[in-house]
Amino acid sequence: MRLLLLEDDTMIGKALRQGLQHEGHSVDWLQDGALAEHAVDTTQYDLVILDLGLPGKDGIRVLTDLRRRENPLPVIITTARDQLDDRVRGLDLGADDYLVKPFDLDELLARIRAVARRHHGRAHDLLQQGPVELNPATHEVRLEGKPVALSAREFALLLTLMERPKATVSRTQLEERLYGWDEEIASNAVEVHIHHLRKKLGERFIHTIRGLGYTLDPGVR
Ligand code: CA
Repeated sequence: MRLLLLEDDTMIGKALRQGLQHEGHSVDWLQDGALAEHAVDTTQYDLVILDLGLPGKDGIRVLTDLRRRENPLPVIITTARDQLDDRVRGLDLGADDYLVKPFDLDELLARIRAVARRHHGRAHDLLQQGPVELNPATHEVRLEGKPVALSAREFALLLTLMERPKATVSRTQLEERLYGWDEEIASNAVEVHIHHLRKKLGERFIHTIRGLGYTLDPGVR
C-alpha cells in the first residue's frame, strides 16, 4: 500500500518507515502537519498514519481539514498515553482507528490490514480470484493451492489489483502505490513486475487494457 506517515519524532518516524517498507508498503514520511494537505492532494494514498502532536498543524486539524473536504482516506491516529481526549475527538472526527504509543509494529500492521479490509468492504483477510489466493497478513500467495514466491513489489502490485478486482488500474497508479517519493523508478518497472507475475501466475491472470492499464482476467473475478 502507499502510506503517508505523519510523525515529527525522528527516531519513531525512521523506525516506522523502515518497518513498513520492510513489509512491502511504500511510505512517504512528513514531520510537519502543514505539509499534509499538499501531499494528499498530489498523491493517491491508501492510508494515513497520523501523529496527533505535530508542528505546523496538529493532527486533529489535519484530520478535520481532510474530512471537511470530504476526503474519505482511511486514517489511523497515534497518540501519547496522556492524550485520551484527543483520541476520542479523533475518532469522532472520522479517524478509523488509533494506537497509543509506544506500540508494536506488528500491531500497527494488523490495524492497517483491518482498516484497509473495512475500507474495501471485505469481511475477512483472504483475497481469492479464480485460482489465485492471497493472504495480506502472511504475504502468502497460492496458485491452485500451491505456494508461489513473489518479490515484495510483485506482491504489492498483485494486492493492488486483487483489492479492486473489477477496476482497471493505470500504470501511474501502480507506480504511485509501489514507489515512494524518494525512490527512482525505471520507466518500464511496472511492465517488468507484470511480466514476472504472469510467468508465475499464468499469462492470462492479468489483462492489459491498451492505453488504460491493467485488470484481472474477467473470467476469474
Ligand atoms: Ca509528535
